[in-house]
Amino acid sequence: MKEAFRHIHGASPDGIWAAPGRVNLIGEHTDYNDGFALPIAIPQNTLVAARRREDRRLRLHSAQGDGPVIDLDVDDLAPGAVTTWGAYPAGVVWALREAGHAVAGADLHVDSTVPTGAGLSSSAALECAVAFAYNDLYGLGLSAPALALISQRAENGFAGVPCGVMDQMASACCTPGAALHLDIRAGTHEQVPFAPESEGLRLLVVDTRVKHDLGDGAYAALRAGCEQAARLLGVAALRDISPAELPATNRTLPAHLVPLVQHIVTENARVAEAVSHLRAGRVAALGPILSAGHASLRDDFRISCDESDLVVDTALAQGALGARMTGGGFGGSVIVLVDEGRAQALGDAVTAAFRSAGYPAPHLFPVSPASGARRIE
Ligand code: ADP
Ligand code: MG
Repeated sequence: MKEAFRHIHGASPDGIWAAPGRVNLIGEHTDYNDGFALPIAIPQNTLVAARRREDRRLRLHSAQGDGPVIDLDVDDLAPGAVTTWGAYPAGVVWALREAGHAVAGADLHVDSTVPTGAGLSSSAALECAVAFAYNDLYGLGLSAPALALISQRAENGFAGVPCGVMDQMASACCTPGAALHLDIRAGTHEQVPFAPESEGLRLLVVDTRVKHDLGDGAYAALRAGCEQAARLLGVAALRDISPAELPATNRTLPAHLVPLVQHIVTENARVAEAVSHLRAGRVAALGPILSAGHASLRDDFRISCDESDLVVDTALAQGALGARMTGGGFGGSVIVLVDEGRAQALGDAVTAAFRSAGYPAPHLFPVSPASGARRIE
């Protein structure tokens, strides 16, 4: 990392920062409905080597960006000004300045083991790594949740993706051995112990290799649908609807909004249920909650795809305790909770099922809850 930085920027970095990708155990599309989520950080990280500059230049390079250094003037940063991957790091600098922090130039080099566009939140990992680096380079003293909000602002306001704050909170605030219970409206987060290995269980990630594109409008349309439903129901957000109220709300809404509300309301309840199981040490009880969450995303929210459904169906047929797509949808990754002894056979069966269906081979790996963003050097 340091050598690459020196090669690209001609000097040594001031430090190296890391921010992880995430998988969300349960609570999908609930963040922009003021609801609840339960992500973990994964061991894959985005690293940023950074050096403060005394001028106004922001010089960006990524080992994954396959292009020359992007050279920007921080005073010219405006939404729409950067249309490449550089929008994520430049957006962080823009968001810091928008929030009134007197930050200026830096040289950055990025390298990552978080697969991009796989629903594992490489975008939030990149933003958070840059936000944590700037926080230290410029002595801003911002908290991890504050840096998560800056990162979300970068993605919403500068990169033009209308995401909620779950990904950035996960990357910024997760801790090893725990899932992060987020209450988005309250702005609070709590660490909930989650150690599947100690129960003889494995959490597998299956990257279907189907690339989603959250900028393609589908995400924005779902978000708009949820917001319209909340307006019609006279509540601030769908978080305010309880499962008991669903039959009544369904009668008042236009038909196309009913399944959206159904998903969000039941999904928030699933997060609460999952948290109470984890607090009682019942990790295996998460299984049926994951599978119910998948059915809701597939049938009500309608954001799964054939490849993700094939992983879930194959995993359950192989005796998995539960499985669900994770992330924004339309491809990306699936998580599977399975007994350790069945994990290998299950992985083989998923790979074989993909081969039979003529799909490119999926990428499988186990994960345990890892550390959130931090300085590593
Ligand atoms: P996800 O966050 O699920 O991986 P997104 O579409 O939200 O998918 O973000 C992926 C985009 O983030 C990539 O297309 C790229 O622009 C940017 N990105 C993420 N990681 C890197 C990296 N290491 N180097 C350059 N760009 C990256
Ligand atoms: Mg993303």
